[in-house]
Amino acid sequence: MALVCAVTLTSCADAGKNAEEATKTVFAMDTVMELKAYGKNAERALSEAEQEIIRLDNMLSRGTAGSEIYKINELKNAEVSTEAVGIINAALSVSASTDGAFDITIAPIMDLWGFFTKDFRVPSDEEIAAALEKVDYRNVSAQDGRVSLRSGAQIDLGGIAKGYLSGRIMEIFKGCGVSSGIVSLGGNVHALGKKPDGSKWRVAIQNPDGGDFLGTLAVEDTAVITSGGYQRFFEQDGRVYHHIIDPATGYPAANGLKSVSVISGSSDIADGLSTALYVMGQDGAAEYWRSHGGFEAVLMTDDGRIFITKGLENIWESGFGYEVIE
Ligand code: AMP
Ligand code: MG
Repeated sequence: MALVCAVTLTSCADAGKNAEEATKTVFAMDTVMELKAYGKNAERALSEAEQEIIRLDNMLSRGTAGSEIYKINELKNAEVSTEAVGIINAALSVSASTDGAFDITIAPIMDLWGFFTKDFRVPSDEEIAAALEKVDYRNVSAQDGRVSLRSGAQIDLGGIAKGYLSGRIMEIFKGCGVSSGIVSLGGNVHALGKKPDGSKWRVAIQNPDGGDFLGTLAVEDTAVITSGGYQRFFEQDGRVYHHIIDPATGYPAANGLKSVSVISGSSDIADGLSTALYVMGQDGAAEYWRSHGGFEAVLMTDDGRIFITKGLENIWESGFGYEVIE
């Protein structure tokens, strides 16, 4: 990693251009990604960020033959980069602390519902029960450049990959001497430093019901990562089936939340947590925040109530009423 940054620094120092503001849109990981950087080297930082997006997409997508995740799922015991081991261990740590609400071995269930092929269908209870037998993050070991899977486990990093990616983009921006920038990777926003005028970034949280934003957060050097059933779903016979699965049931999580945003400087963990807290529901999410800390959160319930954790009180602005979790 140190070497990559050093190389990045040198190449950027040579860029020579004086772009004040640069923007770029990239489509990867099934997501429209908007990148913005300010200052000298901004253009160069964005093109290096784009290369990083492509690199991580190729590395982490389980559908790309030859990706590290593809290899792990095929071989069940594969030699991979230390970077892949690190990402998988970050995911496993979120699994352990959330008692499996976040679980990258959810892959066979994602497949059953058709989220992998986009050939959506509602599986039978029997199919779900059979696939659930293979879901347990404790069947994954990642160490010493090797990942192994037991008991039919297959992994899907969709719940954490973009969080890791935005963190890497921030490193690349910094390595290029860019101190102000922001990226939006679908529901994942990550801000570097402050805005060029010295004020904080204002990150809006989407309203799952449409219309006005739920509210905005004034942040610097922070990720704001949102999970919600409204982001990816299909409809059958008048019912909506979304992409965040409760590993306890194998069905789309239905624990009373419409949207969860996690606010933290560590975007990979925040990404895993946004998915996990969505699965846990309001009480479980509030309890997790109280006992673990290290992040803040905005929750919206199915019945339209908004909750923010105490640490956001001074940076949250909203036209809606809200309650504070203490
Ligand atoms: P996110 O948008 O970050 O909440 O992640 C949702 C994605 O993570 C889904 O599209 C799946 O690829 C994967 N996923 C779904 N349910 C879970 C879960 N309970 N734990 C871990 N990953 C999940
Ligand atoms: Mg997530």
